[in-house]
Amino acid sequence: MQKSSDEVWDQVWIGANIASMVAGAEPYGNIENAALAVKGERIAWMGPASEAKLKAAAQNLPVHDAQGLWMTPGLIDCHTHLVYGGNRVEEFEKRLRGVSYEDIARGGGGIQSTVQATRAATHEQLHASAAIRAERLMSEGVTTIEVKSGYGLELDAERRLLEVARDLETDLPVSIKKTFLGLHALPREFAADRRAFVNKVSGPWLQSLTEAGLVDAVDAFCENIAFSLVETECLLQAAKNLRLPAHVHSVSTKEMGGAELAAKWGALSADHLEYLSAAGARALAAAGTVAVLLPTAYFTLRQTTPPPVALLREAGVPLAVATDCNPGSSPCTSILLALNMACTLFGLTAEEALSGATRQAARALGALDDIGTLEVGKRADIAFWRIERPAELCYGMGANPCVGVLHRGKLREPALARIRSTHSPH
Ligand SMILES: [Zn+2]
Repeated sequence: MQKSSDEVWDQVWIGANIASMVAGAEPYGNIENAALAVKGERIAWMGPASEAKLKAAAQNLPVHDAQGLWMTPGLIDCHTHLVYGGNRVEEFEKRLRGVSYEDIARGGGGIQSTVQATRAATHEQLHASAAIRAERLMSEGVTTIEVKSGYGLELDAERRLLEVARDLETDLPVSIKKTFLGLHALPREFAADRRAFVNKVSGPWLQSLTEAGLVDAVDAFCENIAFSLVETECLLQAAKNLRLPAHVHSVSTKEMGGAELAAKWGALSADHLEYLSAAGARALAAAGTVAVLLPTAYFTLRQTTPPPVALLREAGVPLAVATDCNPGSSPCTSILLALNMACTLFGLTAEEALSGATRQAARALGALDDIGTLEVGKRADIAFWRIERPAELCYGMGANPCVGVLHRGKLREPALARIRSTHSPH
């Protein structure tokens, strides 16, 4: 158990069961009946409750009793398209009435309809709808959300999406990672000149957005109906020149080798991965690239070929799980549902799934030094749960056992103030 020499705390919690999610001998990094102290934004100390009480008394600090609640790292949704205009509910209705994808696309539906609605939306409109989705995620213990642009497909609209993502972090108690998904779809105005679009995205657009401080990473949709390997590499090279990390939507066929491409460029993550060869899995493992699994998209699209989890495990690829929140293939704002489906549809163990939205999700964002596990020195992003054991976070469907959240050491949910009790130090 780690201890810190810094003995001056701001708050201390006892009586909690801690799922630290640190990789090791104990499942979920479990420490039962433990204590945890916070100083500023950081975890300052972890250890036995008896010792915590003595130290708190010496500092004349009140002790919060978590009364058997479980504490986990704040959950991390490492793949979302959270900011967009409009929605696709009409399309959903049409498909259920039997209208084909082709007819919907011919009628202006699909991703192009979201691009149109996004371009037409103001900053305030985009912010208002994205904030609702962010708050839904946050209510389930999420403290960090990765947000991709990609529905603007013109410089001003892409900038607006990334500015909204930035402002969500200012306006809500949540951390945001901003990803420029420049190569998401080909906008109509470039239909006759793909190369010009790829060059603009990889050149002046990326440059301008990066200079404005709006890009933490880049992403590209590498798929035979989206962007080719060569086109994707153009953006990855440009990102490398600017020292930006990358994610890759590897929705590729076997021939495309999207996973190999992500590995070759040292991408933080390769996402989707429904089609993956053994060589692709080995390449990801060797590069330390995280496989991000998106089971709610798989579910919505009624796909039948799940990502080859056994192959990924065997190769030693870290597995993350995310909502892929987007209006078309995953209108999902529940990370807990994604965990459930990662288990039921993809066969992850409960511990793998929960690691996928904590430790491995942090790794997928290049932020494992800071978040993703409960350890001394890491950010005090902590979710409190009324559960009997951590696997319940994957087991339930439609339940939300989150009763409170610390984000950067600050108590976020008023609910927690009601359930906690405070003991005086004397
Ligand atoms: Zn996506």
